Amino acid sequence: MESILVLTHADDTGSALSKASLEAVTAGIDLAARLSALLTIGIIAADAATAASSLPSSGARLLAVSGEAFAQARYASDAAAAEALCRAASATIVLAPGSSRFTRIMAGVAHRLSGFIDTHITGLSGTENVEASRWFYRQRIEAVLSRSARPWFLLLDAGTHAAFADEAGTAQVETITVELPALRTTVSGFRAPTLGAQTIRPDAKLLFVAGAGWTKKQPDGQAHVAEAGDLILGFLHATSASLGSSKSLVDQGGEGNSVLPFLTHLNQIGQTGATPRHAKGLSTCCHGEEPHVVGWRFIGSRRAISLDPNCGWTRGKADVVYVADAFPVMAKLNALLEAAKT
Ligand SMILES: Cc1cc2nc3c(=O)[nH]c(=O)nc-3n(C[C@H](O)[C@H](O)[C@H](O)COP(=O)(O)OP(=O)(O)OC[C@H]3O[C@@H](n4cnc5c(N)ncnc54)[C@H](O)[C@@H]3O)c2cc1C
Repeated sequence: MESILVLTHADDTGSALSKASLEAVTAGIDLAARLSALLTIGIIAADAATAASSLPSSGARLLAVSGEAFAQARYASDAAAAEALCRAASATIVLAPGSSRFTRIMAGVAHRLSGFIDTHITGLSGTENVEASRWFYRQRIEAVLSRSARPWFLLLDAGTHAAFADEAGTAQVETITVELPALRTTVSGFRAPTLGAQTIRPDAKLLFVAGAGWTKKQPDGQAHVAEAGDLILGFLHATSASLGSSKSLVDQGGEGNSVLPFLTHLNQIGQTGATPRHAKGLSTCCHGEEPHVVGWRFIGSRRAISLDPNCGWTRGKADVVYVADAFPVMAKLNALLEAAKT
């Protein structure tokens, strides 16, 4: 019989599980039910008992590694914690969120346990065996993987499962002691990237895409790049949406043109960019050409604001298109969001 371990970690508060961890919990519960397997959830957090309060009815055995050493991501302490949890659970299948914290350590942990690892898993199926799906070649080819080697580590892409939701309660947690190696790294805090704004937020419900139109000459014959930047950042600030971009807009930086300084190629969505998985997307000042829109493959509900009534979005690529000037529309939207807060 398989022994499934779902590894989870706390979010920035240190006492609640991250959304991606709760998604992995859902995946673990489904898989364990299908395979009639044992299910264990392992928690790594500064305050694991409080983090476990979101799991009272998961039906799983709960193991935790807790303490100040696990408050922040650090290879040595996180890898030691994950290894100890895997050993305590005698895990044959290990599911973990593909977060930056776990992506960094999990290949090393798999190696320590003589296991195998696959990453970017988007789905789990199979009733006799575990069948794990992932996409290759820019989301064009979907492969279904199975392995006989154990333990098998599977890192799950965010947004592929619903987050496990439970009534808060008291959960019975077994604490696992970890022998920490000498810690040579001290986490002294976070330094935010460009302009203090972290704009790529995989956990956000909404993807906001900025296209090259924001920096183009507008009907008054002038470009309004500073205003565009304020409107975009104002919207992100009010909604905590994730910021995506078209290729044309991020490429402008390399061509010496004026460009929105908080955008980099990491924001690019599309064939040669990212393929995120937000529930909703709002495109602005973007033409909706195919190489861009293929990056929207997994976006559930799509809306666009474009001046061009013949743009790609109006040709069946969006659910709703507002043929309008995005400057006044976004200014009005931001004002409504601001008013709703007060
Ligand atoms: C091999 C290859 C790979 C590519 N990969 C990607 C990729 O990964 N991602 C990607 O994005 N592109 C990619 N492209 C480029 C893609 O084909 C388009 O050129 C690009 O997406 C266009 O960006 P855009 O729509 O922002 O700009 P534009 O085509 O310049 O469109 C700007 C739009 O803004 C509108 N607009 C202007 N002002 C306003 C306003 N005030 N209000 C509302 N709307 C306004 C205009 O009407 C226009 O529709 C690729 C191309 C190739 C050949």
